[in-house]
Amino acid sequence: MEQNLVLVADDDDLTRMMVKRMIVKLGYQVIEARNGAECVEIFEKHLPDVVLLDAMMPIMDGFTACEKINGLPEGARTPILMITSLDDDASVDRAFGAGASDYLTKPIHWAVLTQRVRRLLMAKKADDQLQQRIAQLDILHRIDRELGYTLNLQQVLSFAVDTAIQWGRASACIVGWFEEESQCIDRLASVGETDILPAPVMINTLKEQDSFLASIFTNEADHYSYIVDEKTAQLLIPLVVGGQPGGFIGLDNVPTALLDSHAHLDFLVQLAGRTAAAIEKTRTYQRTQLYANRLDGLYAISTSISNQLDQSGIIELLTRGLTFLLQGTSSFYCSFKVHTRELIVEHCFETDGTNDTLPQPGTTFSLYEHPQLTQYLHDGPLQCHSDNESAKLWYDTLQLNCTVKSHLLAPVIYEDTLLGIIVMSDSRFERHFLPDEIALVRSLTAHGAVVLQQATLFREIRDLEQIKSEMIRMASHDLRNPLGQVIGYFELLVDDQQDNFTEQHHHFVTLIRKNLDNIRLLLEEILNLEEIESLQSAGWRPVHINDVLKDVAETLQAQATVKEQTFLIELVPQDCIVRGSNSQLRQAFANIINNAIKYTPEGGTVEVRSYLRDNQFHFVVEDTGYGIPEARQERLFERFYRARTPGTEHIEGTGLGLSLVKSVIERHGGAVWFESEIQTGSTFGFWLPVLNEALNSQ
Ligand code: ADP
Repeated sequence: MEQNLVLVADDDDLTRMMVKRMIVKLGYQVIEARNGAECVEIFEKHLPDVVLLDAMMPIMDGFTACEKINGLPEGARTPILMITSLDDDASVDRAFGAGASDYLTKPIHWAVLTQRVRRLLMAKKADDQLQQRIAQLDILHRIDRELGYTLNLQQVLSFAVDTAIQWGRASACIVGWFEEESQCIDRLASVGETDILPAPVMINTLKEQDSFLASIFTNEADHYSYIVDEKTAQLLIPLVVGGQPGGFIGLDNVPTALLDSHAHLDFLVQLAGRTAAAIEKTRTYQRTQLYANRLDGLYAISTSISNQLDQSGIIELLTRGLTFLLQGTSSFYCSFKVHTRELIVEHCFETDGTNDTLPQPGTTFSLYEHPQLTQYLHDGPLQCHSDNESAKLWYDTLQLNCTVKSHLLAPVIYEDTLLGIIVMSDSRFERHFLPDEIALVRSLTAHGAVVLQQATLFREIRDLEQIKSEMIRMASHDLRNPLGQVIGYFELLVDDQQDNFTEQHHHFVTLIRKNLDNIRLLLEEILNLEEIESLQSAGWRPVHINDVLKDVAETLQAQATVKEQTFLIELVPQDCIVRGSNSQLRQAFANIINNAIKYTPEGGTVEVRSYLRDNQFHFVVEDTGYGIPEARQERLFERFYRARTPGTEHIEGTGLGLSLVKSVIERHGGAVWFESEIQTGSTFGFWLPVLNEALNSQ
């Protein structure tokens, strides 16, 4: 406990001696001055807690000395008690005017003096504490402000370290922090030499030790002290976040006396609270930023993956994407073969400048011996750390290098079926992947699994389509010749025997002819369609599309005339050029116009139009025909689909015309559309991209 210091200034030796004796009895220290000038000088040198000042003194009187002390930086806050034999109003006013805190007249009443000194010292102490608190609040406020405005952690840390050194009267200060990703306690900032945290230390190792530093993470006090010798100690103050110690402020060479000062310790604990909040806030901000960037990355990768239908392309994107997202150094993808329980390396990826040992594509790892291995991946990505039994087994099976690296095994699972695993490594340091990171991996692999599955299905469908097309083509080819023979022999027979035919025979002949014709048409259309779909666009050339349409429309007009329909043609005036196949486009126009005439009763109207818009050639055919019920519209472009609207049962067709139109137009980079209302009519149309040169030359 520090002793209070009282300065007694009086030119009378006896008074000084008596006052001194009384003050010493109270337990305070005394320092003496014999005149005003000496009093000011001693005040500046020793900064006493209270001054007892005689008014009438040689060289410099008490009033002047009082005024001077008051003018000094520390003086204004130090209580001054004037003791004088002058008790007139003017003297009292003068004393208070000069800055005295209190006034006492001689002869001294000792009991009164004792009380006055005590009271003044109490007031001084309260004032000191108040000033100290204001200074502390100012520091805390500065940290808060710094945090609110800048999120500049280094600035806050260096301020905290300086303040801690100053208030802890220490020679060195260090701020240590637990980094979740590396599981290490590391130095964030420090000033001066200290052996509190000479090097980063793993949290597990620390907790096992019985060291002073370990107490931070094993106990719950708000500060810990370690007495080094009689005079000095080390002090640790935990940095608490969310009720848990996340780090500490360590002070070295703290005077042991300070350990008794609640005011100082409390303030250091408060300072640690603010510092912890600052670190946490900045870390959260950094993490949020990182997470947002990673989400952007995830989105970009997912989009690229979604655009892939090729299995190896998806695997490559997944492997690269995961390494990029988690900033690993390398990765490889193994597909899983359920029947043989084998993992086969499909793709390896390594970031620039790394020398990770990766298996060769094609390498096979057998899981036959350890069927339980895939179970370990059931709950998602598995972090491989040396203390983890299941990880060890994986290490052995995949022959991973387990000396330095961190590995993450990310399973790619589709509806409980393991499709493959991505093994991501970081050869720089041992990492503990955070829940956020694991969530990203889950998300990416889940998406990857769906796309991989789609790719497999797509490949299977494509293969089936190919087989189907091939079969249809073969069947049509094989049927064409016998059909030709049937028609030929039938006509010969009719020619030979028609003289003997009855009326009924003639009717039969007509029916047979019509059906044979239908079969021939069907075979032709199938072969047509197959041919279009198998043809490459290599032989395409510029087509004057408007001329083709005009030609087709005029040819078909005759059919409309037979049905007494109004047939209108309104074509775009310019010459439009489309790159493509003349015969296929001709067929597409013909099918749509033909349908309009076919599915419009006698006397109806069919209107053919074309126009140009946004570099697109538009073709529209509107009819006032039977229309198509909404329920049957959806499948209209499927092969062999016929809507069979009531009233159209007598109309013959194969159900292949529209599917051919769609196929042709989409191959030419355009699109088909239609609108239809039952009993009112239909409008069918499509657009095609027009060659720019053709437009520019208009
Ligand atoms: P189809 O050989 O049967 O005409 P399409 O593929 O050309 O085959 O047409 C498929 C079905 O769409 C037709 O069977 C018919 O029911 C319906 N359809 C096509 N065009 C029209 C139209 N203009 N009006 C009414 N129905 C139509």
